[in-house]
Amino acid sequence: MPGSGVIDAGRGTTVEDRVLGALGGARPGPTLMCVAGVHGNEPAGVHAIRRVLPALREREPEMTGRLVALAGNLGALEVGRRYVDRDLNRAWTGARLSSLRLRPLSESVAEDREQLELLGAIEELLGTTTGAVYALDLHTTSGPGGVFSVFTDSLPQRDFAATFPVPMIFGLEELVDGTLLNLLSTHGIVSLTLEAGQHGEPEAIDRAEAAIWIAIVSAGLLPEDRVPEVAAARERLARDSAHVPRALEMRYKWDLRPEDAFLMKPGYRNFQPVARGEAVATDRAGEILMRESGRLLMPLYQEQGEDGFFLVREFSTFWMGVSRFLRQSGASGLAYLLPGVRRVPGTENEVVVDKRIARFFARQLFHLLGFRQLEDAGHQLVMRRRRFDEGRYRRGLPRPRRLGQD
Ligand SMILES: [Zn+2]
Repeated sequence: MPGSGVIDAGRGTTVEDRVLGALGGARPGPTLMCVAGVHGNEPAGVHAIRRVLPALREREPEMTGRLVALAGNLGALEVGRRYVDRDLNRAWTGARLSSLRLRPLSESVAEDREQLELLGAIEELLGTTTGAVYALDLHTTSGPGGVFSVFTDSLPQRDFAATFPVPMIFGLEELVDGTLLNLLSTHGIVSLTLEAGQHGEPEAIDRAEAAIWIAIVSAGLLPEDRVPEVAAARERLARDSAHVPRALEMRYKWDLRPEDAFLMKPGYRNFQPVARGEAVATDRAGEILMRESGRLLMPLYQEQGEDGFFLVREFSTFWMGVSRFLRQSGASGLAYLLPGVRRVPGTENEVVVDKRIARFFARQLFHLLGFRQLEDAGHQLVMRRRRFDEGRYRRGLPRPRRLGQD
C-alpha cells in the first residue's frame, strides 16, 4: 500500500521485490538510483519511495533518464532488525566482493545472499546506463535529532551534496570501511547517504521523501518547474536543519565489541554539543569520557552496531570555498612537491607525509586538497587523493560497469 505514513517500530516491513520501482522517460539520460533499507530497522526510505513512485509515474513520459529504486536488506527489513547475520553496509570493498563472488552458496550467511543480489541489481542497472549515475542511499539513526548527509568529498559529489539543504558530514570514509556509499563513489557514481531522522519517527519518511524529490531535480531527471514538490522539500529540510552548522568534519568514533557491554547514557541527540571529559556512555571498563569537545553524532541506542558514537566538529564554509578553489585550479597536484611529502611507490595518488617536517599543515591541508587519510602511524601519515576530484569531472564522470575492481 503506497503512502503508508507510520512506521510501526519493532515490526518488520515486507518487501516483495528488491526492485521497488523503475521509471524511465522517453529520452535517455542520467540514472538516479535510490537505495533504501540497507539496514532492516531503517524502513523510512522504503516508505518514502512508495510515496514518490505513484506521483512520479504521471510525469514519466517527460522524464530524461530514469529512476530505479532498490531495497537493501530484504530479510532484515522483514524482521525489523539492523541485520540478520552481519552488517550489510560494511563489506563493500573490492576484496570482499571478489571473495563473495567466488564463495559457494552453502557457506554463505543471510547477508552474503542479500549483498550478491543487491550487487547484481546495481550492476544490471550500470550495464544499461547511458548517462551519469547518481545514488541516494537512505538511512535513519537510532538516536534522535534531525537529518544530515554523508558523502565522499570529491568535487562532483560535493556539488551534488550541496543541493540538499542539510548539514554535510565530511570524512566518514576515514572512520568506517566498506560502506556501499564508498564503493559507489570510487566507481564514478555520484553518491550521497542521507540520514533522515530517528528510526520509527514518521518525520523520517517525510524527510527521505523530500530528499528524493531534490535528487530527481539535482540529477536532471525533470526540470524544476515540473517538480512542484521540490520547493517544499527544500524548505522542509532547511527548517529541520536550522539549528545545526552546514559543514562538520568527523574527528573520531568509539569502536565497540558486543562483549564490551557498551551503554550510551540516555538523552543524547545528534549534534548535541559535548565537552572534553564528559562521560557520555559506560562499558565494562567504566565511564567513557569524550576525548575532545565538539558535537555528538549517531549515539548508539540500539542493540546491534559496532560504532558507539561519533564526534564531529563544525568547520567554516569559508574553507569549503578555499578547498574548491585549490582543487579546481589544479593545486592538488602540487601537494606532491611539498617538503616532507613523498609519493608511495607504485601508486598514482598516495602519499606518505612525514609529520615531523609537515606538522603544521599535514592532515588539514591534505583534506582541503581532496586527499583522505588511509593510515596514521607514528610520525607518518598515509593519504590518498580521492578519485574524480578534478574540475573536469564536474562535467561528467566515466560510466562504471562492474563494481569492486579499480
Ligand atoms: Zn543505516
